[in-house]
Amino acid sequence: MEPILVTRPSMPSFEEYCEEIRKLWDTRWLTNMGEVHEKFQHDLEQYLSCPHVALHTNGHLALENAIAAMSLPPGREVITTPFTFVSTTHAITRNGLIPVFCDVDPVSFTIDAEKIEELISDKTVAIVPVHVYGNLCDVERIQQIADQYNLKVIYDAAHAFGVRYKGISSANFGNASVFSFHATKVFNTIEGGAVCFRDDALINILNDLKNFGIRGPEQIVAVGGNAKMNEFQAAMGICNLRHLDQEIAKRKLVAQRYVEHLNGVPGIQLSKSQEDIDSNYSYFPVVFDGFSATRDEVFIALKEQNILARKYFYPLTNNIECYSDLPSAGKSSTPTAAFLSDRVLTLPIYSDLNLNDVDRICEIVLSLIKHK
Ligand SMILES: *Cc1c(COP(=O)(O)O)cnc(C)c1O
Repeated sequence: MEPILVTRPSMPSFEEYCEEIRKLWDTRWLTNMGEVHEKFQHDLEQYLSCPHVALHTNGHLALENAIAAMSLPPGREVITTPFTFVSTTHAITRNGLIPVFCDVDPVSFTIDAEKIEELISDKTVAIVPVHVYGNLCDVERIQQIADQYNLKVIYDAAHAFGVRYKGISSANFGNASVFSFHATKVFNTIEGGAVCFRDDALINILNDLKNFGIRGPEQIVAVGGNAKMNEFQAAMGICNLRHLDQEIAKRKLVAQRYVEHLNGVPGIQLSKSQEDIDSNYSYFPVVFDGFSATRDEVFIALKEQNILARKYFYPLTNNIECYSDLPSAGKSSTPTAAFLSDRVLTLPIYSDLNLNDVDRICEIVLSLIKHK
């Protein structure tokens, strides 16, 4: 049988993509903010109802640049969570800033907003919270804290493209929100990413950061790098955006099928849907706590049947070698994140995952129940 991976990239039809890139053979304009890039940027601003979108070649560089755009003095502290992809912690560190790890909420897997204040010191300059699995952080409480202590907020929104809170798209919170359009995400441009923001003053700053600080043929105004999105990536984005709502609707059916099988099974905790939030069903996390089999045993049982679930997020970023020297390193300072990281498995989910395969995956999981 074909292996089932944890995700499978969404793609438009071959013809639809060809139609979008045909003009590139006429113009020979392949990168550097050409027509396709401009159209895609505009499409996204519309879709997200966000005034500014700075397209990037990947999500990580978008996150690095979003943090850099805040002009935070190096050596200062940034409050974040370890229950994330290493990209988040790396982006803070590569900006010369010091991550301070906050624990997560056991239900939403996102930063526990009530634990932020106790971590604020006179060196704290920003919060980098992570939306996880299509759940959103407590954006209102985080903004209150940021206002009170004069902190910047940069959301790692890599998991939250297409998610809405009270009808407002996830692009619109904090000083900036950063998406990843990597092939494995709900919405992809092969590789890609974007910084979304409302403050006009950030437009030039982000353009400089992603294009060498070049403003004109003889005008270089800043020490920028290169993180531009090219025309082929933008063309993929234009196509995939047309089908996104449909893709999310199909993911929802997959998620519901899992819930039908697994809800209420002793020792299995499913993610609760959040009030006022339309999710994108980007992942299907299951926490095995007090189940007949451990998370690792479930992982192996699925793997033996050629089904590749993921231990996501494991390890925690405060428990990896390169951060062991940080004052807040070690998973003991974030017990809830440590608990979840040892017990969570994300099951395969993508728009064209066959519901019969979902049935089969659940059968394998439930077959591990030992009857006493
Ligand atoms: C995917 C991801 C990133 C990095 O995005 P890339 O496009 O792969 O560079 C950052 N943070 C989180 C939480 C992610 O899932």
